[in-house]
Amino acid sequence: MPLTDFDYTFKVLIVGNSGVGKSTILERFIGGDFRENLPKTIGVDFKTKTLKVDGSRAKLQLWDTAGQERFRTITNTFYRGAVGVVIVFDVSDSTSYADVMRWVENVRSEFLDAELPVIYVVGNKCDLEEGRTISNKDARKFASQRGFSFMDISARSGSNIEELFRRLAADILQDKQLLTRSTMLSETVKLSSHSYDTHSSFYGERQAKGGCCKTS
Ligand code: GDP
Ligand code: MG
Repeated sequence: MPLTDFDYTFKVLIVGNSGVGKSTILERFIGGDFRENLPKTIGVDFKTKTLKVDGSRAKLQLWDTAGQERFRTITNTFYRGAVGVVIVFDVSDSTSYADVMRWVENVRSEFLDAELPVIYVVGNKCDLEEGRTISNKDARKFASQRGFSFMDISARSGSNIEELFRRLAADILQDKQLLTRSTMLSETVKLSSHSYDTHSSFYGERQAKGGCCKTS
C-alpha cells in the first residue's frame, strides 16, 4: 500500500474582493455544485482535493480568506508556504477588477525575497453576459502584460473551474523551486482534521461546462 494517496501537497490561496465568488468557486470545485448563499466561514478555512496531473497526484490545499478580505487583515500564516494564488475578480464589477493589482501587491509583499507563487487572474461570473463590464480581451491583455495567466470562469455554470485548478497544478509541477516549497509544506503542516478529500482524475472526468466562457 502506498504511504500516502498523493505525491505533492500544493497550498493554493484564493484572494480577491469580497463578493467576487471565492467561496462559491471552491464549493463548485470541491463539492461539484453551485450553492447560493453559502454560510460565512469564520477564521481561516481550507479544503483539499487531489487531482491527477501529468502522472502525479497533486493534493491541492485550497485556502479561502473567509471574510478577512473585507478588512484587508490577511495574516502571514495565510500566505506561508503557498505555491499558487488565484486572484479573482467579478466580470460585472469594475471595482473588483481595478483592485486586482492591489491583490498582486499584497501577494508580492509577502514573498519579497522568495520566488512568487504561480499567479492566475480569473474573471468569475462569466455566465452574466448582460451585466459583464470587463471583456475577456482586456482582462487577458492586462494579465499577460504582467506575466500572469488569465481565465474566464463561472462558479454558477461550472465553466473552466476544474480546468483552472488543473492548469495551476500543472504550472506548479513545472517549477522546481516551488516543488521544494510544497514538499516542505507537506512535511510540516499536518492540519487535516478540518479538510475533506475528494478525488478526481485529470484524464478520467469531464465536468459539465456551461460553455459561456472562452477556454484559452
Ligand atoms: P466571496 O465573498 O468572494 O467568497 O463570494 P461568495 O462566494 O460568497 O459569492 C458572492 C455572491 O456571488 C453569491 O451570491 C454567489 O451566489 C454569487 N456568485 C458566485 N459565483 C457566481 C457565478 O459564477 N455567477 C453568478 N451569477 N453568481 C455567482
Ligand atoms: Mg467567501
